[in-house]
Amino acid sequence: MPILVISDVHANITALEAVLADAPSHDAVWCLGDLVGYGPDPNECIDLVRSLPELLCLIGNHDHAAIDMLPLSRFNRDAGAVVAWTQEVLTSENKDFLRSLPINTTYEQFTLVHGSPSQPVWEYILDPHIADRNFDVFKTDFCLVGHSHLPLIFQRSNNLDFPKLISVQWEQEMRLTPRMILNPGSVGQPRDKDPRSSYALLDLDNCTWKMKRCTYDISQVQLRILQADLPERQALRLMAGW
Ligand code: ZN
Repeated sequence: MPILVISDVHANITALEAVLADAPSHDAVWCLGDLVGYGPDPNECIDLVRSLPELLCLIGNHDHAAIDMLPLSRFNRDAGAVVAWTQEVLTSENKDFLRSLPINTTYEQFTLVHGSPSQPVWEYILDPHIADRNFDVFKTDFCLVGHSHLPLIFQRSNNLDFPKLISVQWEQEMRLTPRMILNPGSVGQPRDKDPRSSYALLDLDNCTWKMKRCTYDISQVQLRILQADLPERQALRLMAGW
């Protein structure tokens, strides 16, 4: 059975539930960080993620900030406002869970980080130049990242080559060949102009990666954002996918 790979849930329980319902059966879940921030359901998302089978979960920059390990000044005004609200509403049990999460981990030939191998919490891998520098930092064949909220795949087959950006083939199994950096996109706040949740399925036996999208009821989440008095922009952006 495949591994379900998710990232950047961002306190959006409606999106997380939709992804779990949409995903085919899986025997493990890898979550690349940012369970909270931006969205209205931080406790609900942490509770649900904690219950997932064979969970490997990393801490993201918003999770760090929610437990006071990153100053709010590192965030823009809206994001900082939601982090401050999240600090208030998170249960102490869920704060302890966030504190227990690592900034990186490895599993067989996979390195997992939220941002990048060189800066696990904060750096965005957005282009082949940044990817190139990071290919030199991790030692495994593959690296899974989140943080940018963009479904992206970089490949560098040979250390002398410059990495290339591979276009994502949705719903198709892609054979993984050394070496690659792969981002499954975001469950709770996609930023590629497609508002649907994004996630991936990793099959270790066949060494394949399959990217998927699924819809969820965005209006429900928008309503809860406004009811919690969180910034309206965080509600608007979900519908447009940015
Ligand atoms: Zn994020």
